[in-house]
Amino acid sequence: MKNYFDHTATSFIEQDVIDFLAEQLAKNNYNPAARYTSGIEAAASVAKSTQTIASVLGAEPQEVIITSGATESINTALKGIVFAPNPKHKRILTSVGEHPATNETLKFIECQFDYTIDYCPLNAKGEADLLELESLLATNQYDLLTLIQVNNVLGSVNPLARIVKLRNQYQPNVPLHLDAVQTLGKLPFNFKKSGIELASFSLHKLGGPKGIGILLKNKATRIEPLIHGGGQQNALRSGTENPALVATMAYVIERMQKNFEQSNLIIANLKLFLLKQLKQEGIKHQVISPDDAVPHIVSIAFPELRAETLLNILAKEGMQVSIGSACSNKKSERNRVLQQLKLPQGLDQYILRISLDKSNSQTEICDLVRIIKTALAKYVV
Ligand code: PLP
Repeated sequence: MKNYFDHTATSFIEQDVIDFLAEQLAKNNYNPAARYTSGIEAAASVAKSTQTIASVLGAEPQEVIITSGATESINTALKGIVFAPNPKHKRILTSVGEHPATNETLKFIECQFDYTIDYCPLNAKGEADLLELESLLATNQYDLLTLIQVNNVLGSVNPLARIVKLRNQYQPNVPLHLDAVQTLGKLPFNFKKSGIELASFSLHKLGGPKGIGILLKNKATRIEPLIHGGGQQNALRSGTENPALVATMAYVIERMQKNFEQSNLIIANLKLFLLKQLKQEGIKHQVISPDDAVPHIVSIAFPELRAETLLNILAKEGMQVSIGSACSNKKSERNRVLQQLKLPQGLDQYILRISLDKSNSQTEICDLVRIIKTALAKYVV
């Protein structure tokens, strides 16, 4: 993927991962529920891959539920708590900074099950405002607290340890679900040490294929399954497991852990290079992502040209970036996260999200900056 700056939407799959998946599909395609030798071997392969995944994520193998992706994981966590026969306050706490996978699921729960959803506002950096969060936790009784960790529009990081501390102080029995889709590969993650009960992930954000993800659920937390059927995965997510895809997930996650520090260093340097180039070329811009955001996600306003126009010019030149979040790109509604930042009137319409990966090069960044400069010179009078 050349000139690709949208790794937050989906990531680059390197050749070794494609080769690994192809090889697995060719040799590891039996039904893990079958009783003959090849089926038993497929089940053993799924168990071994799950063990690897669990070990990298700091979880027990029984805490790993394989899903079709983070949207399913999030739906399973949120609806699973609502449907389970736990004590009910019919109230969920979340933030204004969530991905539509959470927002829309909560809207459904609110409408269909008569829940109250409390939305914690964000601070100027795009993080959940902890004073507000504390006040909400002190005032209401919740069934669930669900928050994103790394914001997919800004790269802002919710301070998980402080959030867990507040939850433990005010409502220790309320499960905390983390949308950790943009966490893996960007921040260290350990399920057990984090003190959370549920966490959702998607493999395609990490250099793996689409169609597979994870929900981590600790043993003490009860959820009702979303998908019923053959009773696979301790009946928490029925459906025949795909041994080749699960093995590929283990491969990608282990690889991510091995390359973690080196990749993050490369990406941090690429971000600095991008910002230096913009400055050097005298391009009028305002970095919207906070300084302590993960370097992979850089939202930048070019206040002279609407982001949609700039995006189209860049697309014609083969440069792939996004505005706000890819998941809401097709909708005309304004981005809720950017709305929270109290930016000058209308500036949210001028923001591009440039998301970086170690596969990006300085040459690509120079080309991107050059095209932005040419577009601004041509279209801004
Ligand atoms: N949560 C976050 C923060 C995301 O960035 C995404 C995808 O963009 C999702 C959830 C949904 O993931 P998927 O589309 O892989 O199900």
